Amino acid sequence: MPSVFAEKNSVNGLTRRSLLRAGGLCLSGLAVPALLSAQTEREAAPRPFGRYADLLDTLRKRGHTLRTLGFAPDKSPIVGVKTGGTKKPAIFISAGAHSTEHAGVVAAVELIDRLQTKHEVWVIPTRDPIGLNGYRYALSLGLGELPQVETLADAEALLRKRGEVLFDEGETLLVLMGEYGYANRGLYRGVEKGAAFLEPLKGRRIYYPSRTDDMPGAGPLERAYTLIVTPDGEVLHLNRFLDTAWSPAEVRCARRLMAEIQPGLTFDLHEHGGDSFWMSARRQRTDDDEVWERRIASEAIRAVAASGTKLAPEDYSPGSFFQRLERGVYWLDAGQRGEGLNLVDFAARQYGLGFTIETGMRGPFHDRVRQHLLVVQTAVKLFEERHA
Ligand SMILES: [Zn+2]
Repeated sequence: MPSVFAEKNSVNGLTRRSLLRAGGLCLSGLAVPALLSAQTEREAAPRPFGRYADLLDTLRKRGHTLRTLGFAPDKSPIVGVKTGGTKKPAIFISAGAHSTEHAGVVAAVELIDRLQTKHEVWVIPTRDPIGLNGYRYALSLGLGELPQVETLADAEALLRKRGEVLFDEGETLLVLMGEYGYANRGLYRGVEKGAAFLEPLKGRRIYYPSRTDDMPGAGPLERAYTLIVTPDGEVLHLNRFLDTAWSPAEVRCARRLMAEIQPGLTFDLHEHGGDSFWMSARRQRTDDDEVWERRIASEAIRAVAASGTKLAPEDYSPGSFFQRLERGVYWLDAGQRGEGLNLVDFAARQYGLGFTIETGMRGPFHDRVRQHLLVVQTAVKLFEERHA
């Protein structure tokens, strides 16, 4: 697939004709998604960030003012960047709650410059700076120094040597070092709530490493996925706790910003372990909001399909708490899922329209970035039409 970043005379890799042929985007005053500026079109394809400091440097070099919303446990600032215009309702874009899903983070940074709208926009490009910095860095928080680990096997050996082993069965190893838990692989939905071995980790975090070579942006050890053990021993993650009194600092930063800006449109940029695209929408508080939620989801998925992106198969279901709306689009029912509200669930409950974008991590990195941009740009055009 040609790169949108190098292509001329096209919009997000699509020709105007191909968009129209696809049957999408024929609404009044809207033919195509927001145009990329000529300047950004000439720039090279965005690349993954090695460290959180690189992301912050990039934002500063581009002239953005970073607002510190709060701090992660390692004192990394959680930053928000304001862009767009002054019109309300505001738009909120969040990414990086799951640090392995790195194309969303890069897309959020790109959107700060590329999204053209009269509406006020706030972007939190990553909700997990520690995880973005990678597993070695996460280990350093428990060890007090940056360890010399080159491979997953090195990391496991270090966990056994320096940690208090809490669980070691089958292929799963979990230890406590300093204030943090460290696992060698994911435990989310793999551990019974209140399991005895989680007792020392209640209220703490567990970090585990990205592990595979086939997910560009999240190679082995390149990212650390942050799990949160609740005070009652449930293993969750940073895209929960939006509606709970006990809540990790990173989550509270997003929640406070949302309370301030009251976003009428919210995006959370995620990725999943497959190679196809899907997104989720939320039932809305009013009929009018729900009409727009459906319409925006439909137009966005058509734009993604027309760009040549592989959508999730017709019969695909991301889980039992999803209900298919159309191919590649699902209603997410947080009540059926349990675990409380994620960021977009919370946005829909409190503020208005919201979408979770899920690109396939086994696809080329820049294609995944482009898909995020395309959905947000398409949706924002429709949002502008609604509020014209
Ligand atoms: Zn995710």
